[in-house]
Amino acid sequence: MCGIIGVIGERNATPILVEGLKRLEYRGYDSAGIAVLQGETMQLARVKGKLVHLETYLAESPCTGPVGIGHTRWATHGPPTQENAHPHTPPRRAVVHNGNNENYQHPRHMLQEEGVVFQSATDTEVVPHLIERALQQGLTAADAVRAAVRQLEGAFALGILICGVANMLFAVRRGSPLLIGLGEGENFIASDAAPLVPYTRRMVFLQDNDLAVLRRGNVTVTDIEGQIVR
Ligand code: GLU
Repeated sequence: MCGIIGVIGERNATPILVEGLKRLEYRGYDSAGIAVLQGETMQLARVKGKLVHLETYLAESPCTGPVGIGHTRWATHGPPTQENAHPHTPPRRAVVHNGNNENYQHPRHMLQEEGVVFQSATDTEVVPHLIERALQQGLTAADAVRAAVRQLEGAFALGILICGVANMLFAVRRGSPLLIGLGEGENFIASDAAPLVPYTRRMVFLQDNDLAVLRRGNVTVTDIEGQIVR
């Protein structure tokens, strides 16, 4: 299980994501990436190897926007390649994932039978496709995330961006740590406290099956059925 960082605010997310990933480097990783939303535009940067490669990539192809998620991956399903690096974005939903999705083969086969073409070998990529499927069925963004998570088994933490709801960042945990950092006019998610310390000392540890919806000015935490828990 490796590193997750996310932010929703007003300033450019990219430096916060890259600095946050550096503070998670001590955990070890084999690839890294970020996704940043600017209105309806999802920008993606992913590399195999170290964060210095991500910084080089971003110097040539900058990502700019007030909402973003980042990840350092330690591969469990699929080799450490750029295609398997997170976030997974097919193409208007972005997901970063720590942990394992133990039953991913089942939804993967179902989605493939429905015509979905997978770009990676990971157990993660089913998640954005399950969210997409639920959105197509007419669910709200938060309900689509809940519907997807109900189909997962294993220990995981997820950070999720959805194009079209650029004013929200979603975070879910089950068995893998995930924290909310409460800032002034900006809020954060992270898989441990280290990347949050420069921005806030006010942190909330999510419990299993919590879904947090972060907006710039507030955070709501519900359970997987949608009941507000805090
Ligand atoms: N199981 C996921 C993968 O292999 C996430 C691994 C991690 O925790 O970094 O891509």
